Amino acid sequence: MRLLIVEDEKRLALSLAKGLRAEGFAVDVVHDGNEGLRLAAEGVHDLVVLDIMLPGLNGYRVCAALRAAGHDVPILMLTAKDGEYDEAEGLDTGADDYLTKPFSYVVLVARVKALLRRRGSAGASPVLRVGRLVVDTAARRVCRDETEVTLTAKEFAVLEQLATRAGQVVGKPEILEHVWDFAYDGDPNIVEVYVSTLRRKLGTDTIQTVRGAGYRLVAS
Ligand code: CA
Repeated sequence: MRLLIVEDEKRLALSLAKGLRAEGFAVDVVHDGNEGLRLAAEGVHDLVVLDIMLPGLNGYRVCAALRAAGHDVPILMLTAKDGEYDEAEGLDTGADDYLTKPFSYVVLVARVKALLRRRGSAGASPVLRVGRLVVDTAARRVCRDETEVTLTAKEFAVLEQLATRAGQVVGKPEILEHVWDFAYDGDPNIVEVYVSTLRRKLGTDTIQTVRGAGYRLVAS
């Protein structure tokens, strides 16, 4: 899952990014409304955390522009406590949820996860079953034959990309895009490294390589 944070308070933005990365998300951060709109409109993010008071273009405008262009990415708006901004106005422009500053980090993560779950195949269970694997995308846990397998946050994120589209081929660039953020400019073959670790931990028969196309998680 790849998130975009649009927040001009740099320390806040960076600490949010750090925390969300520790949860296994890929996170891009920008500090200005125009840049936020440009990136969000690329359509590669699974959720946008959007501040309202921003240089360039304010959060309401960013949100309204995205919705007007047909983007339905979930948007969590951050608003100041002073009541200067009206929740109703934000929801009017198409935000999915609201958080008033100052907020607790734990609450932010819970809201982010709730929005992603809500979006995930129309309220479907966050627990994915693929053959002998049970992937709990909310608790970030995976079991094979009822036994829990310990994965790092990144390993889990790669598995999640494959599990949400089990049986289908998922391309390497797609996995990179959703699991690593745009600050990553290393070797795209990093995906292969993670896939081979996942095979070692979950069973070699679980992930097939489809030459030239990508990977497929199969119910073996
Ligand atoms: Ca701000």
